[in-house]
Amino acid sequence: MDLYEYQGKELFRRAGIPVGEGRLATTPGEARQAAEVLGGPVVVKAQVLTGGRGKAGGVKLAGGPHEAEEHAKNIIGLDIKGHVVKRLWIEQASDIAKEYYLSLTFDRGVKKPLFMFTTQGGVEIEEVAATSPEALVRLHVDPLEGFHPWQARRLVYGAGVTDPSEQKQIAKIVGQLYDAFVRFDAMLCEINPLIVTPEGVVKALDSKFTVDDNALYRHPEIAAMRDDDAADPLEALARAKHVTYVKLDGEVGVLGNGAGLTMSTVDVVTFAGGRPANFCDLGGGGDAQGVVDALSVITRDPQVKAIFFNIFGGITRCDEVARGILQALGEMSLELPIVVRLDGTNAAEGRQILADAAPPNLHVAPTMLEAAARAVELAA
Ligand code: GDP
Ligand code: MN
Repeated sequence: MDLYEYQGKELFRRAGIPVGEGRLATTPGEARQAAEVLGGPVVVKAQVLTGGRGKAGGVKLAGGPHEAEEHAKNIIGLDIKGHVVKRLWIEQASDIAKEYYLSLTFDRGVKKPLFMFTTQGGVEIEEVAATSPEALVRLHVDPLEGFHPWQARRLVYGAGVTDPSEQKQIAKIVGQLYDAFVRFDAMLCEINPLIVTPEGVVKALDSKFTVDDNALYRHPEIAAMRDDDAADPLEALARAKHVTYVKLDGEVGVLGNGAGLTMSTVDVVTFAGGRPANFCDLGGGGDAQGVVDALSVITRDPQVKAIFFNIFGGITRCDEVARGILQALGEMSLELPIVVRLDGTNAAEGRQILADAAPPNLHVAPTMLEAAARAVELAA
């Protein structure tokens, strides 16, 4: 789950990382009031779940309340890479002497959290990595040993920060960022830019914070930060129904039991010359309600022309799933063709149950490849 800048900054603040003072606004009037309360110049920042807001005109400095209101009028409703701005963060403006970059993420290859730090902040980090890779200091933390203060010093000295006060402040933030990463079950914490003011104060001017969805049950207050309006409406519906669903761009709706099988199903549809419309994992069970929920999410997508339901019976028996499918089809009016491949435990019984009932739009195929080919053909 990605957090908005202001939400990430709130978690930074709880971890002790210095951030500017600000207020949330959803109307130009609220932006003006926020600027009045904060006093002095402010920065009006679009809150969208994507980067590059500055370049897109979503970050503007304002001398005072009137100008903040004017900027708010222009920024609300702005489309930044497909994200329409509805919220603004009004923050006391900072003077910037230097812009650094600090992040902590998972290096899946090495199976360890990875710090990246450079004094060339403010720009896209991919640019720094491409043009001056030597300026980007990388450092892994062994999760079993935990973080050691010398690691922060290695990052800071390695990047060539020479000012002792800056060194000290940044090293402290590095440790705090590690604590925040662990405490809030983050997958990514990025500060770009981490600024130094003309007075020599280091603080986080931006935040990009991603929390592991699987850990949200431990953080109800973070889970409550989710903005369902910003999510794809189908994905939001799926979440409400506890269905694992990812929208894709094709015509063949994909449903499988188990994430691995479902991934293979997406592949095999592509292999058969079709385009998957989605990834949808039914999970372990195959009860009628689960099938109804999954099918209702998949068929809400108008691009779907046929559905490929791929079941491998393990603990879940194919005859049970077959009954679930029939019950589901009985409960909902589904006109799209649906191709079912059943294999594994009690596959023969399952296929027999489907054959006996034989709804006209239901096709049973014995193998994954044949089922995929059939579904692709029916979707064409
Ligand atoms: P992003 O473009 O989505 O990464 O948004 P940022 O929060 O990083 O802001 C973009 C840029 O706006 C920053 O790199 C700064 O140069 C500038 N900016 C943001 N806040 C302030 C501020 O308080 N004062 C000044 N002078 N510039 C700011
Ligand atoms: Mn930024």
